[in-house]
Amino acid sequence: MGGPQPLPRFAPKVPAGWIVQLYRRDALGIQDWELLDKVGARLYVRCLEVLAVSDSLVRCPQCGTEFEVPWIGQPADRVASCPSCNWSISAGVYHARFEHQDLLGGNARGAFTTFVEEYPRARSYAERMLIVDRLVHAVHVSGNTVVRNLIEGHPRHVLAILDGLAAVDASNTHVGP
Ligand SMILES: [Zn+2]
Repeated sequence: MGGPQPLPRFAPKVPAGWIVQLYRRDALGIQDWELLDKVGARLYVRCLEVLAVSDSLVRCPQCGTEFEVPWIGQPADRVASCPSCNWSISAGVYHARFEHQDLLGGNARGAFTTFVEEYPRARSYAERMLIVDRLVHAVHVSGNTVVRNLIEGHPRHVLAILDGLAAVDASNTHVGP
């Protein structure tokens, strides 16, 4: 032991531009698998992290084991130790670590859970696109906090971008899948 402990790292958010490009290509009938995978994979790890933090869980940066860090109403120096190695983190450090990462979820928890369950199972482009679209729609209707959980940029700008996508979506609905 001794020496500084590594801190948990969190996955980056998804740039709004990636989502816009994905929707534009899709609307043109272009199946950009690479872009879809890129967007889907980031949404996936980000949703997992929001869900984990909402349950006060942390993934050990040394061995990858996930364990609980009790912090709500706890003294900041209360330490939680990894059950599999010698890494540990205090309630105060844990809270400070995720506080500015926009990882506290709430009102879109159901949509995040559905996404992490469904996305890896879906095989075709159309299925995956539909699952991404459902999550993006849930983000869109849930507003600022949820936008902050997943998408890079100022929430108000991101919401304006998503308004634009929804308009494109609505004008395409008569065309079918
Ligand atoms: Zn560990």
